[in-house]
Amino acid sequence: MQIQYKPTRTLLQTILHVEILQGMALTLKRLFSKPITRQYPQEKPDVRLGFRGQHALVRDQASGGSKCVACMRCATVCPSRCIRIRYHEDEESGARVVDSYDIEALRCVYCGFCEEVCPVNALVMTEVFEYGAYDRQSIFFDQQRLLENWDRFTELKGGGMDNYVNPFWRPRGADEKTLTAAKRVKVPDDWTLEGQVVGKKFKTERSV
Ligand code: SF4
Ligand code: SF4
Repeated sequence: MQIQYKPTRTLLQTILHVEILQGMALTLKRLFSKPITRQYPQEKPDVRLGFRGQHALVRDQASGGSKCVACMRCATVCPSRCIRIRYHEDEESGARVVDSYDIEALRCVYCGFCEEVCPVNALVMTEVFEYGAYDRQSIFFDQQRLLENWDRFTELKGGGMDNYVNPFWRPRGADEKTLTAAKRVKVPDDWTLEGQVVGKKFKTERSV
């Protein structure tokens, strides 16, 4: 089979080098339009709804420690197997007491399942995205570092985070009655039009 090449350019276009003129016109247009380059790190980008950043263990205001009750749901659901928890049972009450809580964040795929399943909102994925490092150990979070991550996030948000929960990370489609009390948090009106699911308003904003 013979394939014939049919030139689409006219003789006039060839003579006038129309493509070069078009390229120059575009350059001229961009010269006077608003710059779209963000001057990071002086200018920080907006963090979007449901952003999955650095992990943190929420600090319990009463005890100063973590709210985690060692239910093991997060470690069980984690597809990367990067959460490790050790605990013992209190001899008197029988309640589980966390001995160690580690997240190997370099293995994390930031799916958010751990935050979604936590019944007491002890584990959150914060809006902190600046935590690059030159060594692996810096991105390995033990319990102390996860609590410090929470402190950093609280500072970033300007405090008042005692009852913080990101309603975006409620189990989706589940009847509210079946959720634990900590998960039944009203979704702020300005977040979405359709509750916890990313709504039309948010989608519209994204598409413009
Ligand atoms: S975000 Fe996903 S991969 Fe990362 S620790 Fe949580 S459950 Fe595991
Ligand atoms: S799901 Fe929440 S309470 Fe359960 S072990 Fe994980 S962080 Fe702790």
